[in-house]
Parts: sequence; structure tokens; C-alpha cells
Amino acid sequence: MGKTARGINLNRDKLLLKGISVKIRKAKNALRQIGYNAANVSAKEFYDYMTGEIFSKDKTTLLDVLGNEFLMVHELVEMSELKRMWRTIDKKVIIDSPKTVIYEAHFKAIELELEYAMFKKDYFWAKIRLKQHKESVLEDDPNLPEILKPRSKEIFNRFSNLVKKHNKRSM
Ligand SMILES: [Zn+2]
Repeated sequence: MGKTARGINLNRDKLLLKGISVKIRKAKNALRQIGYNAANVSAKEFYDYMTGEIFSKDKTTLLDVLGNEFLMVHELVEMSELKRMWRTIDKKVIIDSPKTVIYEAHFKAIELELEYAMFKKDYFWAKIRLKQHKESVLEDDPNLPEILKPRSKEIFNRFSNLVKKHNKRSM
């Protein structure tokens, strides 16, 4: 690559990392409103985590996440929980960590994401994510450790009931 092209890419990376920092700060504030203290996650860690290797067929991209406050909240919680379980956030953390660790972080993340959706009264988003959780985790996930199945069901039932209650109220 020539000098100019490289320079342009460097600027683009800088801008991207700057953009990620801003979004992390926003997600952190959002989480504070529902009583969760996120760990310090750098833009570089966030970038590596979102573009690293995975074992599932999840196709969510970095840009999808940056464009959605609920997904931002989700990923930030996930990384925070992994850090608290002493994992290093890099491109290989998902494939190098025990499945129980990954799923525990993911379940905490979906829980906080749903709590935040309820807090923002976005029941539509909560419904979509519950449906995805049901189809991709509860019903069809060969990677989910047996020991965590009850937890995954409990999350589904608890939040489905909350959403249902709201739907009744609004009728
Ligand atoms: Zn997750």
C-alpha cells in the first residue's frame, strides 16, 4: 500500500476508535441508570471483541452494534462480565474461554439489555430479543452447557411475563 492510502486508513481507524469510545461512554451511562456499573472497556478491546473469532453462527456486526443502544448495552455488559471473570478481552477470548464463562457473560448481558429495554419502555425491542433468545438459545443451541439451561429458561419466562403484563395494561 502507498503512503497516502496508509495514511487514510490510519485516520479511518482513529475515527472508528473515537466513535466507539463515545458509544461506550453512552452505554455506560445508560447502564448506570439501571444500577449496573460497567467495567472499563477500551475502544480497542471493544473492536477486537466484536471482530474476533466466534463459535456460533451469530452474524451481528460491529456496525450493527454501534448503531443500536440496546446492543451496545449488551456487548458492554458481556465484556464487563468477562473481565470480572478474569478473561482478557481480545480477538480469541470467545473461542479460548470455557463455554460456561461465555454463556454466563451472555446471559447477564441479555438480562441487562432486556432490563434496559423495559426501563426505556421499548417493549417491541424486548419482544424481538426474547423471540431470538427462544429460537437461537432455548430451542436450538448445541453449544449451551446443560447446567445453564435452567438459567436461560428463567430469563425467558421472567421477561416474557413482564412484556405480557405490559401488553395487557395497554389494551
Ligand atoms: Zn451476547
